[in-house]
Formats: sequence, C-alpha cells, structure tokens
Amino acid sequence: MTLANGDEVRARLVIAADGRRSVLRDAAQLPCRDLGAPIDGYWFRVAKARTPDNRTEGYIDRGQMVIAIDRGDYFQCARVIPKGSAEAIRAKGIDRFRRDVAAVAPILAEGIATLASFDDVKLLSVTLDRLTRWHAPGLLAIGDAAHAMSPVGGVGINLAIQDAVAAANLLAEPMQRGARLDGLCAAVQRRRMFPVRIVQALQHIVHVRVIGRALRVGSPRPPLLMRFFDRVPLLRRIPARILGLGVRREHISSPRTPSR
Ligand SMILES: Cc1cc2nc3c(=O)[nH]c(=O)nc-3n(C[C@H](O)[C@H](O)[C@H](O)COP(=O)(O)OP(=O)(O)OC[C@H]3O[C@@H](n4cnc5c(N)ncnc54)[C@H](O)[C@@H]3O)c2cc1C
Repeated sequence: MTLANGDEVRARLVIAADGRRSVLRDAAQLPCRDLGAPIDGYWFRVAKARTPDNRTEGYIDRGQMVIAIDRGDYFQCARVIPKGSAEAIRAKGIDRFRRDVAAVAPILAEGIATLASFDDVKLLSVTLDRLTRWHAPGLLAIGDAAHAMSPVGGVGINLAIQDAVAAANLLAEPMQRGARLDGLCAAVQRRRMFPVRIVQALQHIVHVRVIGRALRVGSPRPPLLMRFFDRVPLLRRIPARILGLGVRREHISSPRTPSR
C-alpha cells in the first residue's frame, strides 16, 4: 500500500492494529467519526492487604467518581474526571488529590499515602470514535485503530480480539489461494461494524447519562440509573452479559497455518 506521504509498505495486506493513535489509519486518511468523550482518567495503584473476597468497587459522591479494581495486593484505581480538568486538578497538588480520593473512596484512605507525587499518577485520555471505512487498497484497520473504545465496561480488548478473529476467518484461506482481498476487507468491516456500533452507543450513554451526571459538581447522589441497578442486583446481569460476551461472538474457523 502507498501512504498519503508517499511512503510505501510492501505487503499484500497490511493490518493496522496499532491502536487508537494509529499512524497507519492517519496515513491512509481513512474517514473517521468522532463520537466525543467527556471524560479522562487519572490512573494509579494503591497498596492493600490480600482479602479472601474481591473488593472491586465504584464510588460516586459529590461530583467525584473513583473506581478501585482489586488486584490482590493492590487496587488498580481510576479517578474519572471531566475532560479538560486534568491540569486544574494537578495544580492543586498531590495532597489535595489524595484527600479527594480518600473522601469518596474510604477503602483507599489507608494505602493512598503511598502516592508520593503526580509521577505515580498517569493521565489517560479517553477517546470514542470509529472509521466509517476500515480499509483502503492493501490495508485493513481493526481494533482501536478502526474504532477507539472508552474504558467503560472494559470491553475494548474483547472487540479488538473479535475483529482479529473475524479478519482471520474471512481472509486467511483466500490469502492462501492468492485471491483478491479488497472486497473481503469490506466484508470484515460489515461483520464487525454492528457490534462496534452497539457497544459504542452503550459507552456513549454511560458517558453522558451516568458519568457526566455523576461528575456534575454539587450532585451529591449517584445517577438514577446507577441507583436502580444498585437496588436490583438481578438487572446488573443484563449489561454484564452484553459487555462480557459481546454482541456478535467470534469463533476461530480459519484454516491452520501449515507447519514448516
Ligand atoms: C484509560 C483506558 C483504560 C482502558 N481499560 C480497558 C480495560 O480494562 N479493558 C478493556 O478491554 N479495554 C480497556 N480499554 C480499551 C482498550 O485499551 C482498547 O480498546 C484495546 O487495547 C484495543 O486493542 P488494540 O490491540 O486495537 O490496540 P492497543 O491495545 O492500543 O495495541 C496497539 C499496539 O500497537 C503498538 N503500536 C502503536 N503504534 C505503533 C507503531 N507506529 N509501530 C509499532 N507498533 C505500534 C502499540 O505499542 C500497541 O502495542 C481502556 C482504554 C483506555 C483509554
């Protein structure tokens, strides 16, 4: 394939699986639709003692949201913040950051002292977008390169792997035969666009209706939708199933690579 800057990548097919800042998708000038993401996240670790039960929990209070994922001897934490507010939070200093986090998530109060400075806190910017065409002659984008996913639901990796399986199923055997591939790349997009649209729509709703509302300063209570799921545990299975298993599951059916 030939890139917009004139560089040439010599292969029958280049798979752009280089993530949400894909240089290949930019170079190929594939058309992109930005769905907007009103949030970013500060990520950090807080040490903890091992417990027999898993203490993963999300905390919302007074315009703050903190997620603590129990990884055994530490919590992987995310403080979700409105997009564009990172610098202001940082400017208030690490002491204030520790206090704010401990106030909303008391379970972190003891271990948070180990955050010595903002060097221990990483800002991860959240993007939600998708290409409207995933392919160009000699190129196919998959995963975040085709559709950047938000961390909401923790499903971006599932979708990226499902794209790869679908691409292998549709392309491996024709590639072995030396068939033309461009129509088949379009078939990969057709197969995978539907689940991407559904999951991104769910993520967008959560961004706007749940997280956006929760982060609104002065809002002391979690949004109605979250309180509802909190009260009726059985209902939590519905989004969990959609997110966990995916909208269109993929199973490997491509031929095995002949052993050398
Ligand atoms: C803050 C945050 C938290 C998230 N948390 C989760 C989660 O818990 N669970 C989940 O399922 N999803 C999560 N996601 C989404 C998830 O990270 C992505 O959807 C998923 O990683 C996409 O996989 P990918 O293989 O397409 O891209 P990536 O995982 O981004 O992989 C791209 C790879 O390409 C390499 N690369 C990039 N450019 C080049 C280059 N020029 N040359 C060579 N190599 C290159 C990169 O080093 C990287 O290894 C999160 C996203 C964000 C922003």
